[in-house]
Amino acid sequence: MLDFLGYLKRTHMCGELRASDAGSKVVLMGWVNKRRDLGNLIFLDLRDRTGITQVVVTADSGAAHDKAADVRSEFVLAVIGHVKLRDQGTVNKNIATGEIEVVADAVRLLNDCKPLPFTPADTVLANEEVRLKHRYVDLRRPEMQRNIQLRHKVSIAIREFLNSQGFYEIETPFMTRSTPEGARDYLVPSRVYPGEFYALPQSPQIFKQILMISGFDKYFQIVRCFRDEDLRADRQPEFTQIDLEISFARPEMVFHVVEGFLKAAFSTIGVDLHTPFPQMSYDQAIRLYGIDKPDLRIPCMADVREAFAPANLETLHVDAELPIVAIVIPKVGDLSRKDRDEIKTMFGDRKDAKVFEDIKRLEKSFPEAAAKIRELAKPNAEDLLVVVAGNVLATAANAVTDPAHQTAVRQCQRAYEIYAAAGQLRLALAQKYAERHGAFKHGNFRFLWVTDFPMFEWDEAEGRWNAAHHPFTSPHEHDMDKLESDPGAVRALAYDVVLNGTELGSGSIRIHRQDIQAKIFKALGMSPEEQQARFGFFLEALQYGTPPHGGIALGLDRIVMILAGAESLREVIPFPKTAKAVDLMVDAPTPVSARQLKELGIAVVGKKDL
Ligand code: ASP
Repeated sequence: MLDFLGYLKRTHMCGELRASDAGSKVVLMGWVNKRRDLGNLIFLDLRDRTGITQVVVTADSGAAHDKAADVRSEFVLAVIGHVKLRDQGTVNKNIATGEIEVVADAVRLLNDCKPLPFTPADTVLANEEVRLKHRYVDLRRPEMQRNIQLRHKVSIAIREFLNSQGFYEIETPFMTRSTPEGARDYLVPSRVYPGEFYALPQSPQIFKQILMISGFDKYFQIVRCFRDEDLRADRQPEFTQIDLEISFARPEMVFHVVEGFLKAAFSTIGVDLHTPFPQMSYDQAIRLYGIDKPDLRIPCMADVREAFAPANLETLHVDAELPIVAIVIPKVGDLSRKDRDEIKTMFGDRKDAKVFEDIKRLEKSFPEAAAKIRELAKPNAEDLLVVVAGNVLATAANAVTDPAHQTAVRQCQRAYEIYAAAGQLRLALAQKYAERHGAFKHGNFRFLWVTDFPMFEWDEAEGRWNAAHHPFTSPHEHDMDKLESDPGAVRALAYDVVLNGTELGSGSIRIHRQDIQAKIFKALGMSPEEQQARFGFFLEALQYGTPPHGGIALGLDRIVMILAGAESLREVIPFPKTAKAVDLMVDAPTPVSARQLKELGIAVVGKKDL
């Protein structure tokens, strides 16, 4: 028989009572985490979001004991009782309330619970599908409660900081038109205008720029964004960004604000971030790390081309025009033959590049080169040192028929590929030997700003330039003249904030002039008609007194995941979708009724026809 709550009021939360409360009369409410029935004595661990209190129900409590006997895991109870100090031998040091227990005078059974596929008290984690299907139970687990509480604290800390800096939190629409951020749109059909669709925003980009045109000066929003991307392990189709925009902004102003709110966010786990973060251009990042999101926990690569005399290069079949870089992974020590062979396997079967994984062997044949490499790369005695170089390719990439500048581009592309290959190997080695060098332990937070990204990326498949960030990003003031003549060389006023090799956010100074925006659309291959059709309203707005402005957006889910030390975004999002974009709890997406489709003027072609 279930009881009603009636007028009963809770006096304490389950994690609150201490030795100093001994003797108090209390009312606790919560879930039965565990129950142990010793016959005369029944122990119930009562849990709420603050913790657990041990409740003792003795046989002489009569009705309370009868009730407790029927109780099972996750039943919902109210316990009226008094606080008693535990005997010395039974103190539980693992929980905050471990010095006391509550002796029940009465128990009210507020609700029961069907047998569960897993319980919050289980020590072994259930499989993720089961957890997601019964997310309400999974969220009761202390780890999930902690993560969601942390998320709350982080959001509040960021909000408070931004408010203190004069930002307004302003909402922008979810039902809107396409905002290009490089993914597909989620579409919402209009019933009123059959055949027409709203798009869910990939980001509030255009709206936040319009808010600057509207004179709001500093905007932020902790906002859901929607991107229909190809399925990848740790991506969510809807995710949360900390989105902001500033009028009359220079990149440094944006950096300062982001550093401030990240400092506030990290202080929620007691970490005091050192600001300002270092900065590095995209070009430097590629040369030093072979990637645009360097992980600073491992030393950068060293350019060791000068270590080799031209004759050495010829003997080694190394392309003298390409980079030769050394990778140093600290404290990895001497590797066995087998380990060294594995480096070759990790590097893959590349024709364009080669790896010298055994410096000692290089030392035997080219002692001077090896000595110079050591001088340039500065490894300590116990560090692993590996060198990567470009192969002389048998088939001449630079065919004579190539116009001169094409050859330069190819050479440049090849140089990029060598840096990238070395960068990948550097990361793979750092992962493989993580235990030995110890740089990846939780709490080692190394932030970085990467600046001056290229404005455009060549899309091989489409045969045209794409915006590397988004099409509203301003080119570097000094590179404007190359927009038509040499788009590949145009740098953007774009920046990323990177933490330990992960991009946390991207932003840019925007184009605030209509003539330049139209030029960029044109460089992206958009005809004037297409520009009008897609962005006519925006090109129009830009003409009504647009101030220079810039901003950024950072992924909140990822930040919380890092702060929580969690392995997946799904651990910090209350109701996530699976890697296959499915919500297993509510079972979405689902087909809709024929009537709904008819109202929307939509006919679904069979799946197999898609
Ligand atoms: N809208 C961009 C994004 O979502 C961020 C920005 O440029 O502010 O990545």
